[in-house]
Amino acid sequence: MLKDFECTQESYAKGILREKGLKSTAQRLAVVHVLHTSGKSLSVGEIHDGVKEMLGVTGLATIYRTLEVFEDLGIVKRLHFPDGGHGYAFSQGEHVHHMVCVGCRVVFDFPECPVESFDYASVEKQGFRVKDHFIQLFGQCGKCAEAA
Ligand SMILES: [Zn+2]
Ligand SMILES: [Zn+2]
Ligand SMILES: [Zn+2]
Repeated sequence: MLKDFECTQESYAKGILREKGLKSTAQRLAVVHVLHTSGKSLSVGEIHDGVKEMLGVTGLATIYRTLEVFEDLGIVKRLHFPDGGHGYAFSQGEHVHHMVCVGCRVVFDFPECPVESFDYASVEKQGFRVKDHFIQLFGQCGKCAEAA
């Protein structure tokens, strides 16, 4: 059954899970499939519905745990919305920033990390050591901008 929906995205996730000694369970692969086929950011409830459609009964707690594991592994990105809500999107690559359409929630990869050219010396002068960063752009995709 799993073979029916095995795409390059599932193979990618499997590879990372294997590297970390984690199992590629049907639920985990289904979460990847639901996310990458939607092409947009989904809520936990929407992911849960998609996985249930594929596998039948699946607990919501399993979905939460899977998303947590995937977020740690960088397979999934947690996205923020201006109204305070969150969504999840499939993400490939170690260091990727995303642009999110607030209209239809479609997600694009940002071409390059803007922080690479950041002036670290100026903040380190203040005794601050930068460990990590979070950058996400909000906006309207071409389709939503046209419809507005
Ligand atoms: Zn797939
Ligand atoms: Zn849009
Ligand atoms: Zn970056």
